[in-house]
Amino acid sequence: MSTEARTIQGEHPADARERILGALGQYWGYDELRPHQEAAINASLDGRDSLVVLPTGGGKSLCFQIPAALRTGADIVVSPLISLMQDQVEALRTCGYPAVALNSAASPAQNARAEEQIRAGEASLIYAAPERLLSMRTLSLLDGAHINAIVVDEAHCISHWGHDFRPEYRRLTELRRRFPSATWHAFTATATQRVRDDIAHQLGLRDPEILVGDCDRPNLTYRVAPRTSARDQVLEAIRRHDGHAAIVYCISRKDTERTAEWLKGKGVNAAPYHAGLSAERRARVQRDFMAEKLSVVVATVAFGMGVDRSDVRCVVHMAMPKSIEHYQQEAGRAGRDGLPAECVLLYSSYDPEKWRQLMMRSAQETGQDELPEHQLELLDHMRSFCARMKCRHQALAEYFDQSLDSENCGACDVCLGENQAADDAPVIAQKIISCVARLDGRFGAAHVADVLLGSTKERIRTLGHDTLSVHGILAGTPSPVLRSYIDQLIDAGALQRIGEEYPLLQLTDDSLAFLRTEREVSLLTPKAAARAKAPRASESASWEGVDEQLFDRLRTLRREIAEQRGVPAYIVFGDQVLRDLARVRPADRSQMLEVKGIGPRKLEEFGEAFLGCINGANA
Ligand code: ADP
Ligand code: ZN
Repeated sequence: MSTEARTIQGEHPADARERILGALGQYWGYDELRPHQEAAINASLDGRDSLVVLPTGGGKSLCFQIPAALRTGADIVVSPLISLMQDQVEALRTCGYPAVALNSAASPAQNARAEEQIRAGEASLIYAAPERLLSMRTLSLLDGAHINAIVVDEAHCISHWGHDFRPEYRRLTELRRRFPSATWHAFTATATQRVRDDIAHQLGLRDPEILVGDCDRPNLTYRVAPRTSARDQVLEAIRRHDGHAAIVYCISRKDTERTAEWLKGKGVNAAPYHAGLSAERRARVQRDFMAEKLSVVVATVAFGMGVDRSDVRCVVHMAMPKSIEHYQQEAGRAGRDGLPAECVLLYSSYDPEKWRQLMMRSAQETGQDELPEHQLELLDHMRSFCARMKCRHQALAEYFDQSLDSENCGACDVCLGENQAADDAPVIAQKIISCVARLDGRFGAAHVADVLLGSTKERIRTLGHDTLSVHGILAGTPSPVLRSYIDQLIDAGALQRIGEEYPLLQLTDDSLAFLRTEREVSLLTPKAAARAKAPRASESASWEGVDEQLFDRLRTLRREIAEQRGVPAYIVFGDQVLRDLARVRPADRSQMLEVKGIGPRKLEEFGEAFLGCINGANA
């Protein structure tokens, strides 16, 4: 509302910096800012709109939490993640930071208390779900609150391009009339240029400061593999992170239940999570996961947003997501604490078709009889990401118009050399291309694969394709591997897919050159047994000097404290703090305050208990 509410505009930069660092230490116990944080904070303090794109775990929250804490009045944070809002606010309050949340997940008593604090001017930051925010009751409450800034978190939700669009986000601009002098700040982790433009346009940002960080997540190791035996592959991945948090994404609700059940049978502490479960059951899964009583959540991709923990060490996709944006968001939930984590994507070349059918069905439900072109385009980018044997970090960076410095990322299946080149690639390519030629380009990839594998299913026999000379010439090749070869040939330009509904596999102008082996081709498959057992350098580095037994004891203590208080474990301390504590073994409170991530408030609350645990261990 009134601009006097801002107290910092025109302040000398050095003074502003000191106050920013002061807040950073006071609430979070950190001593330096990350790239772009200072510029983002200053944009807000200077009263300028901003659009900030930082990867998950890049530290977006501090960019809006700090300015709000440094001035009188309050800022509003709009977030779609209602289920997580309460936890975020709880985490802030544990640091002594004055924040409140207004949303349907909070009890009426909690909401009433939040309203009281807003009226009393005791909240610097007000988190609200979009619907709640736009209600008359909330708006009139906020009228008296000196709103300096409106922060739109997960701002990509306002865009149709590759994201789960939320119609209520479009209504946010109604707030402009209500709070004409407030500045606007959009935050997101994933945004191509197109999405960025869309966000700025939809929110009507005025000459915004645009800050785009490096989108790469170097702490993540990406692995993409053909889905051969899905459940075993999932089990193998989560066993590499035994006892740690993992999320498994499935396309259907049924799959989440079956997979969770199967995993439980294998001794994994797992539970399903999807929109069809009762609110009560979902809340319990969420609570148990947060409290570290549950390690693995098997969720539908459509609904996985509610499960989040910063120490997720592994995210597995049992099938391909429908866009790279979705993949980036979902896989991005791994390693938000910056520590090494792994993302495994199991892929079958049938996945794009399955998505196409699902998307078609939902389009028809809304009366459309065609899929928007851009949806198919996004799907195809995702397909190609899976099928191509190109550095995964590099491929993701390129999709977001960036590029990686190093040739070898050392953190994906391709760069780690976990795939092997088929010795006889030229011959395999010849056989596949011949089969496509023999079938006159009138069949899809699945049928071509069936012929090559020597299938005798009815359709093959009826068409007489079991008598073709190409029938069975690649018999014995695992079917997903063959489908991956076909994808790789498409990617190399040796074949093409034509048509949308039932895409046909056809020759290209270059097919002949491949057939005559004038053009080189390499075909990769995952190495069977040699699944990277050796941890990455950064994985072992992050454990260097850490007394792992002490770490486990500290973890148990953290879980007990969290349980007593009924809060998620990470709110007490993150894994990074626990590792540091188990590395430096502080002897007293002042040494403990040196550890990054421990501020005065947390020292007071938890110092005694953790020092006791550490020094008991020293003795
Ligand atoms: P994002 O919202 O971008 O996914 P968060 O704001 O949750 O990321 O931050 C990720 C983690 O990094 C959190 O644990 C946060 O406390 C930590 N963090 C953020 N900024 C800093 C900083 N300047 N120094 C140290 N840790 C930081
Ligand atoms: Zn790589």
